Amino acid sequence: MVDAAEKVVVVIEDDPSIADLVDLYLREAGFRVLLADNGRRGLQLIADHHPALAVLDIGLPDIDGFEVCRQIRTTSAMPVLFLTARDGEIDRVLGLELGADDYVTKPFSPRELVARVKAILRRGTPVETADPRVLAIGDDVVVDLARREASVRRLPVALATKEFDLLAFFARNQGIALSRRQLIDGVWGTDWYGDDRTVDVHVRQLRKKMGDELPLATVWGVGYRLG
Ligand code: CA
Repeated sequence: MVDAAEKVVVVIEDDPSIADLVDLYLREAGFRVLLADNGRRGLQLIADHHPALAVLDIGLPDIDGFEVCRQIRTTSAMPVLFLTARDGEIDRVLGLELGADDYVTKPFSPRELVARVKAILRRGTPVETADPRVLAIGDDVVVDLARREASVRRLPVALATKEFDLLAFFARNQGIALSRRQLIDGVWGTDWYGDDRTVDVHVRQLRKKMGDELPLATVWGVGYRLG
């Protein structure tokens, strides 16, 4: 469960009626909320307070939300939830070259927004129904399921198909010790009759390619655990 207490969320939105609504619902859910009505002020709040997450409008009076996100990403892998108003914006958010974690489309239900914020912050436990497009592993590793891209500290890592599938499976089941059989069933399929050592070979490759930033532990007598 997310302990919302003491978690800070920065909301960057120039429309005061929307900002007030988001502020109200997030505070009701137990978050500390800091509001910015332009991009530069938002970046300053993020630099000063290191929030758990940013809610980011795209149409802002100074620099737009895409640029704000780009600047956040130069220093941080913190989650970003976009507020989008138009189809064209959604397309760009879905392009995800910015590393957005999720988005909601205006007009949105404030309850849904709070649920999305909680879901993003809850990552690290299995997420089966939310179908997030991007999973974060710690602060440095990002797995983009839609684009099938993995990155370490924003640098893309070239993975073979099954290596990516294995990483994605681990990312969806963070904190859980998984047996080689579970990994084979989840990644190669239950009708695959290969050797368990296939898992070990792929894990070795993942460790080599992703480096020490990937917190993938061997659980003796069981298998492996991410995080
Ligand atoms: Ca706006």
